[in-house]
Amino acid sequence: MTARVLVVDDIAANVKLLEAKLSAEYFDVISASNGPDGLRLAAEQKPDIVLLDVMMPGMDGFEVCRRLKSSPDTAHIPVVMVTALDQPSDRVQGLDAGADDFLTKPVNDIALFARVKSLVRLKMMTDELRMREATGHSLGVTDASEMLRPNAPEAGGRILLVEDRETSARRTLDALSGEHELKLTADPIEALMLARDGDFDLVVLSLSLQNTDGMRLCSQLKTLESTRHTPILALVEEGDTKRLVRALEIGINDYLIRPLDRNELLARVKTQIKRKRYSDRLRQNLQLSLEMAITDQLTGLYNRRYMSRHLDTQLKFALEAKKPLSFLIMDIDFFKSINDSHGHAIGDEILRGFASRLKANVRGIDLACRYGGEEFVVIMPETDVAFAYAVAERLRQNVADVPFAISSGGGPLTVTVSIGVTSIERPDETADSILKRADQALYRAKRDGRNRVVAEAA
Ligand SMILES: [Mg+2]
Repeated sequence: MTARVLVVDDIAANVKLLEAKLSAEYFDVISASNGPDGLRLAAEQKPDIVLLDVMMPGMDGFEVCRRLKSSPDTAHIPVVMVTALDQPSDRVQGLDAGADDFLTKPVNDIALFARVKSLVRLKMMTDELRMREATGHSLGVTDASEMLRPNAPEAGGRILLVEDRETSARRTLDALSGEHELKLTADPIEALMLARDGDFDLVVLSLSLQNTDGMRLCSQLKTLESTRHTPILALVEEGDTKRLVRALEIGINDYLIRPLDRNELLARVKTQIKRKRYSDRLRQNLQLSLEMAITDQLTGLYNRRYMSRHLDTQLKFALEAKKPLSFLIMDIDFFKSINDSHGHAIGDEILRGFASRLKANVRGIDLACRYGGEEFVVIMPETDVAFAYAVAERLRQNVADVPFAISSGGGPLTVTVSIGVTSIERPDETADSILKRADQALYRAKRDGRNRVVAEAA
């Protein structure tokens, strides 16, 4: 994983140290030595994460964090407060300012990379959802679902507590039940069933359960379709770094070290619930309104209008973040003669069949669209031309090798497809230049005999 990290610290030696550690792991590091410069860089350079010193002359880290989190341009960027003072009150103040996590100086390498990677992964998902929502807004189709926005985003959460120590369980219940609705279990199987059916906003889970492996439970929760979006806040024994790092790798969203600090527990629970509801809302917006207004009725794929807007958004993001982006354009060979000899109803069946194979052959992050008639396109974020070519070739082969079943008249029909592939190559790339190059590749695929994939370089 690669990501751009902004380090803000008034002591040059601290910046250098973090820079060295992060660069060694291939992170792209930018830095600022005071709050105002940090704010400017965050807005201009769009980092994937900010590591923020608390004690700085002039504007301190809490204030910088508050400003980052209150600006719509930077509110989604995760912020990790780096503090010399290992004081729970500092952490609570940071969480109130909107910080996503803490690191204590001297910064422990394992904790640094585990937290940075975990937050960057979360941001990538949120970025994708935000872009789709932005595309929807620009089409004017998400307004109706604004009413879904929860009024009090972080209160009244439903929390599943998995804990087998009576004293600790009681203390956690006491701390949280004033604001939230809690369900307690000590049994891992019951925990899985409850999590699956209970529509929880958060699972608070002890990693040191007496008779079972808390880690296995985390991994099961993160694997199940119905629970993988539910955040996990793990309770960890002091000094159990090894288990904590593995749990972060599995995908837990946050952790607390025992003995639990009541205020920190409340603050972290609040942050997780807020984040869960934010991503739920994005997901609901997408499902409720976008799908209807921007879907091609015949194939269920996105339509051309949506694709054009989304390509603009994706391209802007890829160029700013200096990430690859690939684009496929494809055309079913001799489609007119299918329509002519079998009729339009059969033609439509072929288009639907092709669309479902297309969907089966691309990843969830890719955006497949019906471009018009028998033309289809796929936008592939974070994908280079070689990988995109391999995906296109696999699809072409599947289409050619497995004939399409039709509902009437004769056996299955053999259909082939020609595909043009291209990727962004220059910083001045536009949607038009990409489309034009992909079209040229498609034209060559047709000219050279059809049923083939051609990649076009600039
Ligand atoms: Mg300082």
